[in-house]
Parts: sequence; C-alpha cells; structure tokens
Amino acid sequence: MNTTLENQIKQASQFLAQSPLKAFIGGEWVSAANGATFATRDPGTGAALAEVPAMGAADVDRAVQAATKAFRTSGWAEMSSSERGVLLHRLADEIEKHKPVLARIEASDAGKILAQAEGDVQNFADTLRYFIEISLHVQRRTPLAIRGHEATTVRLPWGPCGFIVPWNFPFLLIGWNISPALAAGNTVVIKPAEDTPLSALYLGQLAQNAGIPAGVINVVTGYGATAGAALAAHPGLKRMSFTGSPEVGRLVATACAQNLTPVKLELGGKGAAVVFDDVDVDATAARLVGAITFHSGQVCCDATRWLVQRSIYDQFVNNCVERMKRVTVGYQLDPTSQMGPVVSAKQRDRVLRYLERGHTEGAELVLEGGPALVPGRDGFYLKPALLAGRLNNVAAREEIFGPVAYLTPFENEAEAIALANDTDYGLANSVWSADLDRARRVAERMVAGNSWINAHNVFPHGVPYAGINKSGMGGGVLSFETFLDYTRGLSVVRPL
Ligand code: NAD
Repeated sequence: MNTTLENQIKQASQFLAQSPLKAFIGGEWVSAANGATFATRDPGTGAALAEVPAMGAADVDRAVQAATKAFRTSGWAEMSSSERGVLLHRLADEIEKHKPVLARIEASDAGKILAQAEGDVQNFADTLRYFIEISLHVQRRTPLAIRGHEATTVRLPWGPCGFIVPWNFPFLLIGWNISPALAAGNTVVIKPAEDTPLSALYLGQLAQNAGIPAGVINVVTGYGATAGAALAAHPGLKRMSFTGSPEVGRLVATACAQNLTPVKLELGGKGAAVVFDDVDVDATAARLVGAITFHSGQVCCDATRWLVQRSIYDQFVNNCVERMKRVTVGYQLDPTSQMGPVVSAKQRDRVLRYLERGHTEGAELVLEGGPALVPGRDGFYLKPALLAGRLNNVAAREEIFGPVAYLTPFENEAEAIALANDTDYGLANSVWSADLDRARRVAERMVAGNSWINAHNVFPHGVPYAGINKSGMGGGVLSFETFLDYTRGLSVVRPL
C-alpha cells in the first residue's frame, strides 16, 4: 500500500475512533441532551462504524437558537458577498483538501463505490463555488422607475434555514441544498439521514477549519421521526428544504404549514427512458444499464421504466441482460467492484419485495435479480434485475430504489409519450434517438421537471433541477433561481 493511501485510511479511522461522535451546534461539539446515541453501519459489511447522537426536540431547538443567534450577531448576514465568498471558498478548499478522506468515510457509510463518493465530494465544492459566483454578481438593490417616488427593492437573506436530507447522496445533497442558502447570507441547520450521518459531521470540522463563524452551519443527527420531525416543526426556521420520499415530504410540508414556513420539497421519481429504433442499440443499452446500476439504482432521477420501440425491443433487451449479468457486485471500497451494496437490510428487503409483488401482478422476470453473495462480506448486496410487462403493475408505478428496471414496448411516438406520462411522479425522463428533432419534440412533451436527450442523470450547475407532481414542489435546486429563493425581497419607497 502506498503511503498516501495509508495516510488517508489512517485519517478516516482516526475520525471514526472518536466514537461516540458529537453533533455540531453553535460551533461546539455536543452530545444529545439525554445522552442517547445510535450506531451508523457500513452497508457493505453490516459492521458498526461509529455511534452518533440520537438527538431530539431539545437538541434541535438548541441548533435553531444557535443558527438564529449567528444570523443576528455573527456578522454573517451583513457581510458583503465578497467577504462571505472568501470564507466559503475556504470551505470549498477544505473540502477539496480532505476529499480522499471524506470520500472514504462517505463510501463506508453509504455503501458507495469509492470513486463515485469522490465525485460527490468534489461536486459539493463545485456547487459551493457556483453559488459564490452568483452571489458576487446578483444585484441586491434594484431601483424602480415609479413616477413620483424613490423606490427600490432590496434582496436580503431570510435567517436560519432547515435542511433534511436522505441517505443516497448524503454529502452531495447537503452541498446542493445549503450552498445557495449560505452564499445568500442565511444560516443553516442540517439533519442528515440516520443511515448516513458521518459526512455531515465531518463537514462541521471543515467549517471550523475554514473559519466560518460559529452557528452559521449546525448539524443535528438523529432519527427522522424525532430529530427530523422536530426540525420540520420548528417555528424559528425561516425556510425549510426537504429531500426524501413523498410520504415524509407530505409530513414535512404539513408541519411547515403550521408555521407558514416556506418549504422546498425534492422527492422521489419513476423516470422513463424512451428508446427509439434509430439508436445505436449497444451504446444505449450500455448507458441505461450504467444508469440503473449506478449506486445500486438508489437514485431519485433514475430511468426505471425503459420504454423501447417494438422493432428493436428483443435486440435491446438481450443486450441489456448480457450487460447486467456481467456487472461485478462487490464491496464498495474494493476497486474491482462496479456495484456496491444497498444502504440497509430494510432497503434490500424493500427491493426484494417489489420484485416479488411485481411478478405476482404479472410482470415477466426477464432477469431475476435477488440477493448477491460477496465472499467474506456480510452486507446488503443485490443483483441487477429486469422486469417486463404492462405499466399497470406495482413495480412499474412505485419507486423501488434499487437496481431494477421495468421494460415495456411501444409502437410509435404518440404511444411512447403517453406511456412516459402515465405516472404520478414528475422528476426526470430521457429520450434516445438519432433524430434530434424528434428527440426534442418528445423531450418537451414529457411531463416532469427534467428531460434529457441521449443521456440520463446530467446535472451541470446552472440548469434547474426540480420535480413536479409527486416528485416535488418549491422551485428545485442548482440554478440562479435557487439562489434567489434564499433571499427575500423588501421594497423601500419614499414619495417625492
Ligand atoms: P426518507 O423520506 O425516508 O428520509 C429522508 C430524510 O427525512 C431523512 O433524513 C429522515 O431521517 C428524515 N425523516 C424521516 N421521517 C421524518 C419525519 N417524520 N419528519 C421529518 N423528517 C423525517 O427518504 P430516504 O429513504 O432517506 O431517501 C430516499 C428518497 O429520497 C427516495 O424517494 C428518493 O427518490 C428521494 N430523493 C429525492 C431527491 C431529489 O432531488 N428529488 C434526491 C435524492 C433522494
């Protein structure tokens, strides 16, 4: 083993060896008020990685108070965008400097292939820099041409904002969510998922290293029904952003409604890939198999319904089956693994249940899937699976969140669009065709927040990413508009 790698492993172990870890509130490392903890596990081995605080309403209140105090008194909200930008660039530098260690911690906690975890960590730094850049160029004071008045609108930060995030992209999604809020001058309270709290806690260390004022970034760990619910219901928050399932999204929105707190919901999906018969079958199959096996299919915007023109259906399906059989399922830190475990035993059982229910309701098991054995690793491994049949099947309608795609043939463009839109969700779809006029036409008629052409899972900074219908509400992430969401308007008028 080379010394750099040895050093990275040592640093990650040193972080975990501090167990029980502490949460990060008001610039201090704290335990839960009642001292409770829970274990976070490596999904690739089932072994406990560390104990973290199981926080409740009192701890969440402390974090919101700390964020409120920092907003009012630390100078963060009043700083010029360039002063704040200096501190946030330092945070991005810290993230990049610690990328290998952070990626190792994230990969271990979330079951992510190490190289993918590195990409997630880099993406956080890139997101932060993107929003810093916007903050430097947004006009904060806009004079209005109103006859007989001197009038201006001023854009100001809201105050303390809450963020509840899921386990599939723990660090990347914290980046997508808090970066615009911080760049705009807000303070934040983050509640990571109970399955993956480690990278959020590491972020607390990096915020300290970067000199971000105490209380600007707070991290509370705990279960959804306790810490999450307490954060969603806290009357001191000025904005809430939730990323997760539609079921919990509904609870969070209901809690926010009680306080009239504006809420952004980024929820699940059941995306379609529409494959026309003029594609390069081999290349398209490779891309879609790559998408459904990426992070074991635990990706909200994945293409999980593959709609394939009948004339190439058999050829396409056979190609996909051969490719999926060859995917190497293995431990996420093993460089030869192409697909790691799913995040938990609960998630593995959920996927297996959907395969069973889908089959019982009449879907053909084109590729059976099921548990995968990884020698020497007692983790939560699955083989990729393919189902086929009509779309009125539970496995075609509900989000499975595993390496499972559902195939349906179509005859023509009109039918393809109708099938793609036959869903309660509305997050992301893709269309695959050599005819770019047709591809654009279909892309614009699919009802969702995002349509990709000859690609799936594409997120350049600056392109809004949002869901509609059961996939979300409130404006989405990653764009100029997201930055504006984290500022409030104030009109100042003087009659002349
Ligand atoms: P989840 O809804 O179970 O949990 C998400 C977060 O909510 C976790 O932090 C959890 O602790 C918390 N939570 C749970 N119960 C709560 C409650 N009663 N009150 C407040 N918070 C509570 O989702 P998950 O299983 O962690 O993640 C998978 C889901 O997330 C999928 O549906 C996926 O599609 C979705 N997702 C969406 C996006 C997007 O950008 N649209 C991105 C990633 C994941």
